[in-house]
Amino acid sequence: MLVQKIQTGKPYSVYIGNGLLPQVGSIFTEALPDLSGKSVVIISDSNVMPLYCETVKNSFQDTGCRVYTYEIPAGETSKNWTLLGEVLEYLAGLEITRSDYLIALGGGVVGDLTGFAASIYLRGISFLQIPTTLLAAVDSSVGGKTAVDLKAGKNLAGTFWQPRAVLCDTDVFGTLSEKIFLDGVAESIKYGILRDKKLYENILHGGLKNNCNNIVASCIAMKGEIVSEDEFDRGTRELLNLGHTFGHAIEACSSYEISHGHAVAIGMSIAGKVSCQLGLCSEACSEEITAALQTLGFDLTCPYPMDTLYQIMLRDKKRRGNTIDLILPFEIGDCRIYPVAIEKLEEITH
Ligand code: NAD
Repeated sequence: MLVQKIQTGKPYSVYIGNGLLPQVGSIFTEALPDLSGKSVVIISDSNVMPLYCETVKNSFQDTGCRVYTYEIPAGETSKNWTLLGEVLEYLAGLEITRSDYLIALGGGVVGDLTGFAASIYLRGISFLQIPTTLLAAVDSSVGGKTAVDLKAGKNLAGTFWQPRAVLCDTDVFGTLSEKIFLDGVAESIKYGILRDKKLYENILHGGLKNNCNNIVASCIAMKGEIVSEDEFDRGTRELLNLGHTFGHAIEACSSYEISHGHAVAIGMSIAGKVSCQLGLCSEACSEEITAALQTLGFDLTCPYPMDTLYQIMLRDKKRRGNTIDLILPFEIGDCRIYPVAIEKLEEITH
């Protein structure tokens, strides 16, 4: 089992390996003695619950915990106020106390909703993450961003609330569809392009299939490093948005028909091209990023004209007055936050 420490205000560990799920109760209880004998509420979705909940439930019961479960419908539409309220009412109905724990068993949707509920129930209780998608393992389960969506857009309401521990049993990726696995591949290679050429090459050469635990651990280590530098997203953490400014615009244009990971992959390819146009990286670098993403299986055809994406990007969170912070590659393994004037962006995208 690999262990990564995340050095946030309240540090925590991420456990990564194969076949860990049946031992999850004892691994967490050993790390967190205050968990022993408490009530735990497992929140999962309608796809993951029948696959993995029984194993997790039994494992916690074996350690003497009282275990409750709550199922939400699978899919992004579950990240909403109504469901958040229903989860809170369920917790209150069970008389869950401040010393009990919530457990997010699922992908990023379950993780974001459960984290949000944990952060506001009784003004904050502990929660654990058991990510079951590659995307949740390398990205959303670590770092403490929680959220629900509003009518005006995704993730518009949320909190920063770190989990007390995270456990990733990479065997669970075996039941993911190829498309959902690929979403996580985009977020994984993002770390390589950002700061680690070797990681980029390992992923490109099939590392996520052949050497999954080590690659996942390296991605988590990098996310942890960046988050510990800037836990509350006021600077360096923006780096994690490589490909996301364009990606979010693509997702929004498609009414979320194009998945997040696929949109980010297209966005990273566009970021390379924009960086090249601004003279920040070579044409070879930009072309290599595009070719790598295609090799990994992404269709990078952007179905929307750039000026349509530009209109949406003007509303991006990273806009500051007349400039917008883009995350741009200077070379593979070296990306930087680069403020671009709105007029310049308009010129490039038209
Ligand atoms: P998801 O949670 O919707 O999971 C994708 C699908 O896979 C769902 O249908 C789910 O039921 C299914 N699934 C999950 N695990 C499975 C398994 N092991 N076997 C079979 N099916 C399984 O989506 P996601 O891609 O994991 O996460 C996307 C969400 O994460 C978005 O809401 C996004 O905003 C959020 N996110 C949050 C952060 C953060 O820092 N908090 C970062 C990135 C993304």
